Amino acid sequence: MGDRRWFKIGVYIGAFCLAMVVTMVLATTYKVLFGPPQGIAAAEPSYTVEAAAPKGTSKAPLANQGLIYTAENNPSYRPPERVELADPSNYGERYAVDAYGQPLNNEFLAVLHETVWSANSAINTFQTYHPRDADQVSYHSIIDRDGTVIYVVPPEKRAFGAGNSVFEGANGPETAVTNPAFASSVNNFAYHISLVTPSDGQDNASTHSGYTDAQYKSLAWLMAQTTIPEARITTHAAVDRSGSRQDPRSFNWPHFLEYLHQYPSRAA
Ligand SMILES: [Zn+2]
Repeated sequence: MGDRRWFKIGVYIGAFCLAMVVTMVLATTYKVLFGPPQGIAAAEPSYTVEAAAPKGTSKAPLANQGLIYTAENNPSYRPPERVELADPSNYGERYAVDAYGQPLNNEFLAVLHETVWSANSAINTFQTYHPRDADQVSYHSIIDRDGTVIYVVPPEKRAFGAGNSVFEGANGPETAVTNPAFASSVNNFAYHISLVTPSDGQDNASTHSGYTDAQYKSLAWLMAQTTIPEARITTHAAVDRSGSRQDPRSFNWPHFLEYLHQYPSRAA
């Protein structure tokens, strides 16, 4: 057993280590040059973003939604989201023609409401089977006090959010008769969003303490996911023709628009 043998073993081990280091350097270089870009996955929209966009109104491809997150004035807001689907008795199909055979091709309209009671109370109502027409009710989505967006009715379906109603827009009065037994309504082209009412608003008073900052931010975010123009965002109170609706009470338009206008696609 001579020193020379140990020397040879040392050379083999040294060569092996050198080969490993070279391999690691090459692998890292390859990954940096050809691997996926880092930090992109976080901005990937989830399927609920598609669910939030009324069919036919979200023409922007999903990739373009990335613009929202790179805007310096609104870098990262993203509301919590969940799905609580309504019972199918509480919503229906959107009609292509009205009860008299006339084509219906209104642009989508966003109609804002408030729940009066809690989000869970509203969801329980919507998830209950309602065989009688008069009991059937729903919104497409609910925005809870903490800003969580709850998807209730798929956007391509017709939610029963407003009865007797007309939208007075730039093109004149818009409404649709889809069932001759009922007054005309905006439901056929509406996307109904309801804000959860504060606890001091669980009554018939004309005002309450209003909505949270998170609710305004989430509403602006939700609207920015669609191409519904600002001029077609309205309230139940504004479209109601029954004289019985005043919701959403105490809605702060300037505060909402301040958040909406932070999105590049919605700049004032
Ligand atoms: Zn309402």
